Amino acid sequence: MSILVLGSGQLARMMALAGHPLGLHVQAVDVADNKIVDPISKDVINCTLDTAINEANVVTVEFEHIPEALLETVHASGKLKPNVESILTGADRVREKTLLEKLNIANCPFSIVTDVEQLDAAMEKLGEKLIIKASRDGYDGYGQWRLQDKSQLPKLKEALSKLDLQKVPLIVEKMLSFEREVSLVAVRNVEGEFAFYPLAENLHYEGQLHVSIAPATEVDEALNQQAQDIFTKLAESLDYVGVLAVEFFQIGQQLLVNEIAPRVHNSGHWTMQGAETCQFENHLRAVRGLPLGSTKVKSPTAMINIIGCKDFDRDMLSIPGCHLHWYGKTARAKRKMGHFNLCADNYKELAKVIGALSEYLP
Ligand code: ADP
Ligand code: MG
Repeated sequence: MSILVLGSGQLARMMALAGHPLGLHVQAVDVADNKIVDPISKDVINCTLDTAINEANVVTVEFEHIPEALLETVHASGKLKPNVESILTGADRVREKTLLEKLNIANCPFSIVTDVEQLDAAMEKLGEKLIIKASRDGYDGYGQWRLQDKSQLPKLKEALSKLDLQKVPLIVEKMLSFEREVSLVAVRNVEGEFAFYPLAENLHYEGQLHVSIAPATEVDEALNQQAQDIFTKLAESLDYVGVLAVEFFQIGQQLLVNEIAPRVHNSGHWTMQGAETCQFENHLRAVRGLPLGSTKVKSPTAMINIIGCKDFDRDMLSIPGCHLHWYGKTARAKRKMGHFNLCADNYKELAKVIGALSEYLP
């Protein structure tokens, strides 16, 4: 059984690793040149894109920003899961906001801006502290601008006037002060059955995820239900198949949707050691029409991203409960190079494991 993944980064790699024991063969498309590659070795496979699509049982994605022509080709093959609408919605903040509004799902107050001169009105409506997001192609905080007060507006307008906002509008959001960020990663199969992981609490720095703790602490039944209800509404409305991630801002007991990702997600990496079945395996099971795996938690887990560095002290692996996932990429500033999953029997022990790891950090 073979699965073709659009995108050949670490998410495709972790899907391939998770699929191997199940006899699922995962190949990837490097979307820069449409070459077929082995997602683990990165070796180019001697096969055309058309052949790879023909031979695959199903085609899925590791990220949402898929070039239009490629997405269209794969959609036309009838093998794409999740469906094209789900991918386009995750790739475009205007579509995403439109869906949230249509479904009456609480989200961050916003304006859509197609001309820099509309920024004054947006500020009038939303206040002076703003976060401005390109509606397409942003990730890890890229394609975002933050505004602290009115005095910064002229400079920002000048910078943004270079962009074609008619083609790619901006989403201007009120800068919220929330208690914390949590995310729900869950999976839906073709029959419409769901399996939910628990909420993870996510810590970001400069717009990029650094740490996830799962299960998030202080989550009562009502909060959990609220998250699952929102997730269900979104996934059913999109007729979604596979793993989907929904990022939330928590204010008091209310969850506001920040964004959705139609794929496996960094805040679900903890499941590789922390849950009975990891998100990568569950995604493959869903898109291949296999029974979903249990999402039962095995141990509280902290996922810590390794960002930008070439290498690190391998003695860290002597820490009990410390697991490494190294992606084998070339180092670049702010690039996700790998992650640790730290596991322990309870949160108190987990804090000790995190403490032991931090001893190694500069
Ligand atoms: P990305 O696609 O880069 O993940 P996000 O919209 O999730 O884009 O923004 C990245 C991070 O920036 C969020 O996780 C959050 O920490 C912060 N952020 C985004 N929008 C807001 C907002 N409206 N108010 C406050 N912080 C925000
Ligand atoms: Mg995000």
